[in-house]
Amino acid sequence: MHSQKRIALVAHDNKKRDLLAWALKYKKQLGAHILSATGTTGRLLSEALGQTVFCYKSGPLGGDQQIGAKISEGEIDMLIFFWDPLEAQPHDPDVKALLRLAAVWNIPVACNEATADFLISSPLFEQAYRTALPDFTAYQQRAIKA
Ligand code: PGA
Repeated sequence: MHSQKRIALVAHDNKKRDLLAWALKYKKQLGAHILSATGTTGRLLSEALGQTVFCYKSGPLGGDQQIGAKISEGEIDMLIFFWDPLEAQPHDPDVKALLRLAAVWNIPVACNEATADFLISSPLFEQAYRTALPDFTAYQQRAIKA
């Protein structure tokens, strides 16, 4: 990935305030990167930061799945996902799917503020980075019994 990162941000409703506070804390650093987000999170972030944030659909309306698809296509470098561990979501399967694809494609993910602090403070955040891409050849060519 390039030094300019394509960062997707998502926060569940009870975590939006935390994500906005986190993003404002790092407004200067985030300004150098390309941001996208689920619909409501993105609207709030662009208002707070005064920065363009590409908005996918709202999470429960498909936004998590859109971001997951972009990760699988290599178009998102990092995921900041403040999900709510204390409340079930109508789109819980999509939340799990998004986290699964981030793991499959080996992108850095922060699910809470402390991890997000560590990620954005890493020297790698401002550098180009060669992601070890998984080799799925064997999986794709696996034999399927008729
Ligand atoms: P939202 O979606 O930013 O549109 O609220 C977040 C989510 O619940 O996945």
